[in-house]
Amino acid sequence: MESYTLIINGRAVRTAATAEVRNPATGGIVGHMPLASPADLELAIEVAANAFHSWKSVPDAERAEACRRVAAVIEANAEDLARLLTLEQGKPLGGLGSRFEIGGAVAWTRHTAELRLPVEVLQDGPDGRVEVHRKPLGVVASITPWNWPVMIACWHIIPAIRTGNTVVIKPSPNTPLSTIRLVALMNEVLPPGVVNVVAGTNEIGALMTSDPRVAKVTFTGSTATGRRVMAGAAETLKRLTLELGGNDAGIVLPGADPKAIVEGLFWGAFINNGQTCAALKRLYVHDSLYEEVCRHLAAYAANVPMGDGLDETSALGPLQNRMQFDIVSRYVEEAKAKGGRVLTGGQAVERQGYFYPITLVADVDHGCDLVDKEQFGPALPIIRYHDVEEVIRKANDSPFGLGGSVWSADPDQARAVAARLDCGSVWINRHGAIQPNAPFGGVKQSGFGVEFAADGLKEFTSVQTVFC
Ligand code: NAD
Repeated sequence: MESYTLIINGRAVRTAATAEVRNPATGGIVGHMPLASPADLELAIEVAANAFHSWKSVPDAERAEACRRVAAVIEANAEDLARLLTLEQGKPLGGLGSRFEIGGAVAWTRHTAELRLPVEVLQDGPDGRVEVHRKPLGVVASITPWNWPVMIACWHIIPAIRTGNTVVIKPSPNTPLSTIRLVALMNEVLPPGVVNVVAGTNEIGALMTSDPRVAKVTFTGSTATGRRVMAGAAETLKRLTLELGGNDAGIVLPGADPKAIVEGLFWGAFINNGQTCAALKRLYVHDSLYEEVCRHLAAYAANVPMGDGLDETSALGPLQNRMQFDIVSRYVEEAKAKGGRVLTGGQAVERQGYFYPITLVADVDHGCDLVDKEQFGPALPIIRYHDVEEVIRKANDSPFGLGGSVWSADPDQARAVAARLDCGSVWINRHGAIQPNAPFGGVKQSGFGVEFAADGLKEFTSVQTVFC
């Protein structure tokens, strides 16, 4: 079984301690991850700080070219990366699984390579010239979750290095191997020290957030950990981008066509088994269509095969870890106890691995965890509503504000409702579709800061105003 290493200054660094990484579909060992010590982290940050001195002065066009090279090397190794990702994360190779994720990583990297932050001229006249320049920040600490580990790593790393920063990334201990492999590939085409990976326990993440040599933390993960990251960064006043949890509402308006929307609703909720930050996590359906939408969703779910991700016929895999499996099981049990009507699933599958079936629970409302909290798994509550004002109030009645969606045959009505949802992204007749040219981020306790497009790039820079 392969033993993976840290990568610091372009070199493999072995650690005294390692841990097993297991396949969530079979329980088998995928490989051994390195467990970085505080001294390993120290070294990685020092190396990244040294590399920053030269990388920040590399001409913009050369940094763009370096990002193009990164896209090419990921693409050339896409199938190997996809297989490793499936083994440790559980998602299927095909469909919206590992190949899709690696393809997304390549697409985001390519797009970001072509972004520019040119000098802005605010004034140029008899009273003088005023320019706004964008400067890199320094060492960026990237902390990532286990649901889309490779794509999210690229969302953090590429805009950081594109703008002249250097990076130390700490992947989730649940899925560290694909990120280590990704960083190894990046180091084939980047100068040493620009991107380093330090895998380890949560404590290593905590140390990153308080290290005075780190200029910025870009964090994607749960809201609870986001609070700790913010507290850790407070002493040294680091810049932060926090992409946190969500509990996205989808609203089906009267007059929508259930047949036409069922596929979008299903994959909006169940992409990656619901283990997606901006997945549809609460579905509100108007009384006039309620039973019909429930029926169509249950019929669609019956034809979606779940199995080992390496099996090319699987459209969904297992949950990634025991903790998430237990959360989903508990929330569904509570919803049932509170009168929820299970349309499909609702009971853990008797087989090896963290398999939980696609579960649709009707006749539930606020006041149970499946509706109020982030389930992050394959269980969708379907809530009946009677009037549009009531449903807007309920959709906004959440501490989260990541995404939301409105489903309707009337575009004007859909836009009017969408405008009243308190969330960072809102979709009409689809859910969760993100793209590299559109800013993405949360409001309320889903975090702050945005990723993607020029707005996302700016988050890795500071402004210097030049008065000439
Ligand atoms: P998590 O918060 O448990 O862990 C995320 C990362 O933080 C891991 O690398 C972990 O090791 C590290 N960490 C843990 N404690 C830390 C500490 N005290 N200081 C610094 N780092 C620490 O999240 P998870 O379970 O891996 O991911 C699932 C969550 O991520 C969900 O809530 C999901 O909604 C969210 N998420 C959000 C987005 C988004 O863009 N908003 C995207 C993906 C996932």
